[in-house]
Amino acid sequence: MEDLATLDRRYLWHPFTQQRGWIGEDAPIITRAEGFTLYDTEGRAYIDGVSSLWCNVHGHRHPGIDAAIREQLDRVAHTTMLGLTHEPAIRLAQRLIEIAPPGLSRVFYSDSGSTATEIAVKIAYQHWQQAGQPRRTRFVSLREAYHGDTIGSVSVGGIDLFHATYRPLLFETLKAEPGDADDLRRVLEAHGEEVAAVIMEPLVQGAAGMIVHPPGYLRAVRELCDEFGTLLICDEVATGFGRTGRMFACEHEGVTPDLLCLAKGISGGYLPLAATLTSESLYASFLGRHDEFKTFFHGHTFTGNPLACAAAIASLDAFDQDDVLANVTELDRLLESLLEPLTAMPRVREIRRRGLMVGIELSGFEPSDRSGHQVTLAARRRGAIIRPLGDVVVLMPAPAMDADTLRELVRITVDSIAEVTGATSHIEPAVEAPAALGANTEETAR
Ligand SMILES: *Cc1c(COP(=O)(O)O)cnc(C)c1O
Repeated sequence: MEDLATLDRRYLWHPFTQQRGWIGEDAPIITRAEGFTLYDTEGRAYIDGVSSLWCNVHGHRHPGIDAAIREQLDRVAHTTMLGLTHEPAIRLAQRLIEIAPPGLSRVFYSDSGSTATEIAVKIAYQHWQQAGQPRRTRFVSLREAYHGDTIGSVSVGGIDLFHATYRPLLFETLKAEPGDADDLRRVLEAHGEEVAAVIMEPLVQGAAGMIVHPPGYLRAVRELCDEFGTLLICDEVATGFGRTGRMFACEHEGVTPDLLCLAKGISGGYLPLAATLTSESLYASFLGRHDEFKTFFHGHTFTGNPLACAAAIASLDAFDQDDVLANVTELDRLLESLLEPLTAMPRVREIRRRGLMVGIELSGFEPSDRSGHQVTLAARRRGAIIRPLGDVVVLMPAPAMDADTLRELVRITVDSIAEVTGATSHIEPAVEAPAALGANTEETAR
């Protein structure tokens, strides 16, 4: 029988991956996970340092979420939301509206962050067509923004590395400088009456390499949208569900967007699920007689999947039962001191952080050095999985992570950066490595 690595190289095409590099590297083949630790076929254990790409919240195999999915599985795994409805989708919608910023009152489900933002863009556009302001057809987005990988969400994106190739396929947007309210004002003064919506990632632009906006910027954007009579779309796909210290980043500045995009952490990071929340007045502009064609003609096959909704309800329960937001406050404080040793390293240009979203930018490397990737490989040898954005080393611990695991994760990261940059680090292991980090003979046989 051929081994899994060979079959992977023969049949798979990995996302955001130069396959020519991939086939020369032995990426771990993950077989199982427990809490914040992933285990591979070789029996090695790794701390999940980026929350399985920014979505895991409570750790893996959380008993409450596991049980909720199993219970739902015994009822029905999937049924449609087109023409039918079901309890998990209804109950989750109510829960989401209860915790969302005040003024949001409707939930439109989909399956990924890309669809959540794509839907927000389409709702905003159609809203103005039906609300007597058909000239409002353009979108303002921030430079270096990331809202997903489908053509609509790429159109409002601003990361050249990911997006430039597709420019001819995309609709044009107006661009504003991140964190600069005066720049947005200039754009709105020039084009205000054509703008359907401003779309932004509140507080932190994640995929840009953790660009952190100055305090007050989000509030200023909200006020500018009001002044110029346009809509605000907040993409909290990355920042939502505790990542910045509050349930939603918007709460830090008391802002309610007209449309709120949620995905990644919504199901605790268990199953694909997304939601676009809107205000009642937006929703109302889609009401009419059938022959007025104000219907929102959009819906994916797996929209509001019952298993994913059950996981999401259980995840919200876990937020309460395990007091996850209080844990985030503690980890936030801890990170401040744990990251301190990096500030003295010569090739660390900047450490950007808000809550549990951390970007450590290295300097003095060529793109071909793949410095971030080298740090990833060094961390893997030490027992942690991280994934960089170019020269920015990213840490995204799960909101429910325990302090000891976070200490170990940061120690590994600091040591790995020291190795790759040729600096020295003098950090003793903060804790005994958990027994789980040794060889796991059970899995070694495979
Ligand atoms: C990850 C991300 C998306 C895209 O989500 P997918 O589920 O990967 O499609 C959109 N917006 C932001 C801010 C993200 O971080």
